[in-house]
Amino acid sequence: YFAGETFSHAFTSLVAVLIVACPCALGLATPAAIVVGTGKGAQNGILIKGGEHLEKAYKIRTVIFDKTGTLTEGHPSVTDVIPIGDLSENELVSFTASTEKGSEHPLAEAVLVYAKTNKISYKKAKTFETIPGHGVRADVDGRRLLLGNRRLMTKEKVGIQQYEDRLSGLEQDGKTVIILAVDGRPEGFIAIADTFKPSSKEAIKELNKMGVETIMLTGDNQRTAQAIAKQVGINRVISDILPKDKAEIVKELQMEGNFVAMVGDGINDAPALAQSDVGIAIGSGTDVAVETAGMVLMRNDLMDVPTGIKLSQSTMSKIKQNLFWAFFYNVALIPVAASGLLNPVLAAIAMALSSITVVTNSLTLKRFNPRKWKGKLSQQKRKED
Ligand code: ADP
Ligand code: MG
Repeated sequence: YFAGETFSHAFTSLVAVLIVACPCALGLATPAAIVVGTGKGAQNGILIKGGEHLEKAYKIRTVIFDKTGTLTEGHPSVTDVIPIGDLSENELVSFTASTEKGSEHPLAEAVLVYAKTNKISYKKAKTFETIPGHGVRADVDGRRLLLGNRRLMTKEKVGIQQYEDRLSGLEQDGKTVIILAVDGRPEGFIAIADTFKPSSKEAIKELNKMGVETIMLTGDNQRTAQAIAKQVGINRVISDILPKDKAEIVKELQMEGNFVAMVGDGINDAPALAQSDVGIAIGSGTDVAVETAGMVLMRNDLMDVPTGIKLSQSTMSKIKQNLFWAFFYNVALIPVAASGLLNPVLAAIAMALSSITVVTNSLTLKRFNPRKWKGKLSQQKRKED
C-alpha cells in the first residue's frame, strides 16, 4: 500500500501472508511421528510409555542387562549336590531346602523343586533371615544354618579356602554354587545352573553389530558371570554387585558420557531402571520393574531391545523430515505471499498440503521393519547438567 499499490491488493497480500505463516504443520511434525512410532512399537511387542522414551532411545550406546531372569530364563535347576562334611547328600539337600523355604530368590526355588522331585523331606525353620546379595540364615532343629555365596562365608568367617578348586571348577561351567554351613562349619555345595533365553545371543549379536556396547550386571560371582557372558557373547561383565549398588553402576557409566539403557526384571533392578536414560523391563518381570521402566518388552523377547532402538532412530528421522517439510513450505511461500504474488486461496491450499505432507510422511513409518532397517546410529555423547 505504501509502495503505491491499491488497498485491496495490499490487504489480499496481508491475508495470504497470514495464511501461509500459520505453522500448523510445524505443530504436527513431532506428535504425528511419535503416535505412529508408538503404535508400531506396540505391534512389535514393545510398550512405550510416552514419547520421551521413544525420542531418547536412539541415543543409546550402552545396554546393561541383568543376568538372572533377563538374559537367563530365571528358572534355574540344581545340577550338583556335593557334601564335604558329615552330611549325606539327602541330608544336605534337606537342610538347604529348610533354609530356602522362606526365600523368594530363584536359587531357592531351584532347591525346593529339587527336593520335591527327589522326594526329600525337610523341616520348617524356626527363624529365617534374608541377607540381600549374600544368601540366607535360618535356625532348624536347633542348628544354625548359613547358606549363600563366598562373600557370605567370608563375612561370617566360615573357612572354605581348601575347597576353592572345586568351587571354581563348577563356576567355570557357568554354574552358581551355594555353600551350606552348619553351626559355623562348611557342610556342602549345591551347584545350580540356569539356561539362557534363546533370544539372548541373537539380541546381543544384533546390538554389537549396531555398535552398541553390551554389559552384564549381576550379583553372582565373577567366574560364573564370565562363563555365561562368554556363551551369550556379551562384551563386559560387572559381577559381585550388591542389589543396592546396581543404580550406582548405571550412574558411573553415565558419568563416562554414555547414554545407558538398563534391561531388567527384578525388584532389585528397579532403582537402576529409574536411573538409566531408558529403562526397559521384561514383561513377565516383577510389577515394580514394569512400573518403573519407560519401555516394556511384552513378548519377553530380548530381540525387541535392538528393535526399540531402531524404531526410535526411524521415528526421529521422520520427525526431522517432517520439520524440514513444515519449514520448507513456510520459508518458500512467505516471501511469495508478501510480494503479492500468491492468492489467499492458493495459500490456503498450500498450507493444507503442508499438513498433509507431514501426516503422510509420518504414516510411512508404518512400513518400519526391524529386519530391513537401514538407519545409522550417529555418535552421541551425554552432556552432564
Ligand atoms: P542376581 O539377581 O544377579 O542373582 P542377587 O543379589 O539376588 O543377584 O544374588 C547374588 C548372590 O547372592 C547369588 O548369586 C547367590 O550366590 C547369593 N544369594 C542370594 N540370595 C540367595 C538365596 N536365597 N540362597 C542362596 N544364595 C543366595
Ligand atoms: Mg533378575
